[in-house]
Amino acid sequence: MTTDYNQLTIHEANKLLKDRQVSSVELTKACLERIQQVESKVGAIVTVTEELALEQARKADELIGTGDINPLTGVPALIKDVMCTRGVRTTCSSKMLENFVPPYDAAVVEKLNEAGMVMVGKANMDEFAMGSSTEHSAFHPTHNPWNLSRVPGGSSGGSAAAVAAGEAIYTLGSDTGGSIRQPAGFCSVTGLKPTYGRVSRYGLVAFASSLDQIGPLTQDVTDCALVMNVIAGHDSRDSTSAPQPVPDYTQCLTGDIKGMKIGIPKEYFVEGMQPEVETAIRVVIEQLQDMGAKVGEVSLPHTRHALAVYYIIAPSEASANLARYDGTKYGFRYQGADTMWDTMDKTRQHGFGAEVKRRIMLGTYALSAGYYDAYYLKAQKVRTLIRREFDEAFEKYDVLVAPTSPTVPFEIGEKVDDPVQMYLADVCTLPVNIAGLPGISIPAGFADNLPIGMQIISKPFAEETILKIAHAYQQATDWHMRKPAL
Ligand code: GLN
Repeated sequence: MTTDYNQLTIHEANKLLKDRQVSSVELTKACLERIQQVESKVGAIVTVTEELALEQARKADELIGTGDINPLTGVPALIKDVMCTRGVRTTCSSKMLENFVPPYDAAVVEKLNEAGMVMVGKANMDEFAMGSSTEHSAFHPTHNPWNLSRVPGGSSGGSAAAVAAGEAIYTLGSDTGGSIRQPAGFCSVTGLKPTYGRVSRYGLVAFASSLDQIGPLTQDVTDCALVMNVIAGHDSRDSTSAPQPVPDYTQCLTGDIKGMKIGIPKEYFVEGMQPEVETAIRVVIEQLQDMGAKVGEVSLPHTRHALAVYYIIAPSEASANLARYDGTKYGFRYQGADTMWDTMDKTRQHGFGAEVKRRIMLGTYALSAGYYDAYYLKAQKVRTLIRREFDEAFEKYDVLVAPTSPTVPFEIGEKVDDPVQMYLADVCTLPVNIAGLPGISIPAGFADNLPIGMQIISKPFAEETILKIAHAYQQATDWHMRKPAL
């Protein structure tokens, strides 16, 4: 176990806290000091909440004294700045919400607070979660802790980079088309996108409502299970949240995967994929086979339409969701316009960044009269085909294993002016959102000291199957224990 308190996992920290070998205040100070040391290089955070964190840590220490605590009690966390935090500004890394202080907590924040969270701050992201590199933050880009000239992925790039850099012990992200898994892969951390409906989205600023889902980014699978135990579950304030009971996600972490059936979707080994990524994933597959899993190839031919389907559905929903930012009720308002219409126009012109405007225009176009049938309706039909194809695959296999991304982290600036290239970064993660499935990315190797992520996908509400395999793999390997030299 490391002696750098900021590098502990949740389960390690919990043990030390319970044994009174460390206090939550000490853990919190270790993270805050780490933030001081590395934040100028990494840029993972929008707002540091030092005072709040220390106050929560003192309360947690009192609670720990009384005995019965949640494993998350007193453990420092960062929350992606797309989830509302009462009294702490929630910006979505946009000028539009730069000074927006929510009057309420998101459901997940509420639950984590009940479990004794110490929140050290809010994590940087692509503006309104639109992007794959965190370069679209209106404030500053986030750098990959493994190589500072590279991107950390996105849109939860701040959340992933912060865990890799030891600025927080765990974080929350959101995933609409890959935004937890792709940055987890790029930063060599563990990131789970739960089933659509598994975690309440009450208080999550909406991007694309039929795709958005909240999930944890952690140092290992056990931590992921511990966070899921707290955040999963039905919430009457989110009508899309499922009434399914929540299991204890740590129960499935047995290390035994003998006889489990793993499908390898051949379409995920896409053209243009970096050879080192393919090699690393093939090695993992052999390892899983050696551990007793049964492996077979599967074909999901509609995968090739997933990118197009996503870039119609997500912008369409975004264009509706983002209509609320007009300078009237809250957020940025352009001063000095003459009429109400002019105020709205200029508010949106100056408040949104280029990528957000691009999405709004794409979505508005796809939904407009005369084009709706050709684009939005057609995309919904293909969405059904993609979902059915997965259903069929899961009749034969427990999980599918694939790369998280076709490449290792790219250079900052490399794709920022080429939207299509940027969109292609998500080819392996988008289909999972389109079908509403759970998926995890776990560290699976390196190419030239740049992380490679492996994705494990399963059927709806089979998070336990995913966690079981991912955990067994981490028991047998140490990729997830490597830390960047910052
Ligand atoms: N990168 C994808 C996009 O830009 C996915 C983003 C996300 O999952 N929030 O839309």
